[in-house]
Amino acid sequence: MILESIGVFFLAALSYWLRKLSLSGALCAILVGVSIAYGTGLPGLLLLAGFFISSVVWSMLLKSKKENDIDLKDGARDGSQVLANGGVAAILAVLSGVTGEKLFFLGFVVALAAATSDTWASELGRLSRGKPIDVIRFQRVKTGTSGAVSLLGTIAALMGSFFIVGLAYVIEGATYSLSLFLGMVLAGFIGNLVDTYVGATVQVKYRCQDCQTVTEKIEHCGNVTIKDRGYRIFNNESVNLLCTVVAPLFFFALYGIFR
Ligand SMILES: [Zn+2]
Repeated sequence: MILESIGVFFLAALSYWLRKLSLSGALCAILVGVSIAYGTGLPGLLLLAGFFISSVVWSMLLKSKKENDIDLKDGARDGSQVLANGGVAAILAVLSGVTGEKLFFLGFVVALAAATSDTWASELGRLSRGKPIDVIRFQRVKTGTSGAVSLLGTIAALMGSFFIVGLAYVIEGATYSLSLFLGMVLAGFIGNLVDTYVGATVQVKYRCQDCQTVTEKIEHCGNVTIKDRGYRIFNNESVNLLCTVVAPLFFFALYGIFR
């Protein structure tokens, strides 16, 4: 636990230094990491590292490929973004440690799989050659728009969920049945689908008054953007949070079938 916490602290400090996390982001990452260390020990921490390191690696590898003026996925993550992605996983990890209930650990894996699915989809989806399609309006929209999908992004979402569940499978000594394994991958992916659907329907979007780009950013072309549609409560963070809440709930509801 102490050794693990030192590892968490080191990784958070490194991420802060690399400007992948802001100060509030690093502090919240320590909170999430130590909760997971407390609840699950090393296995959960390795999964958290899998999520975090893969996200950072994708963003570094793909950084220069495409300009991003639509979404908020660039720059250092702040505390609310870290909690939106890792908060539910941390709570489930603590529940797993306190109760000793295996189901909570599986839910923890699924919440992390959902966060990974979402992150990989948005990082890799950017590389898609065609413009993504808005899932509600069936129109092509600018790369990076919430609620739009591409084939590459969808495959990346599946792979992200598969990566975390696969890592858990390896770490846990391959104790899952095939149906449980696939159910967990599916649940993580469903979280990403909810993220996309909410992104296309009620998530708040702003419009740049200069270039008319619809964006999640509150500033564009050096000016403040105006609200275009959606509800302010459904911002990038709350939608991410919803993604990581829905995935384990979906999994718990269907656990009887998956197990
Ligand atoms: Zn603009």
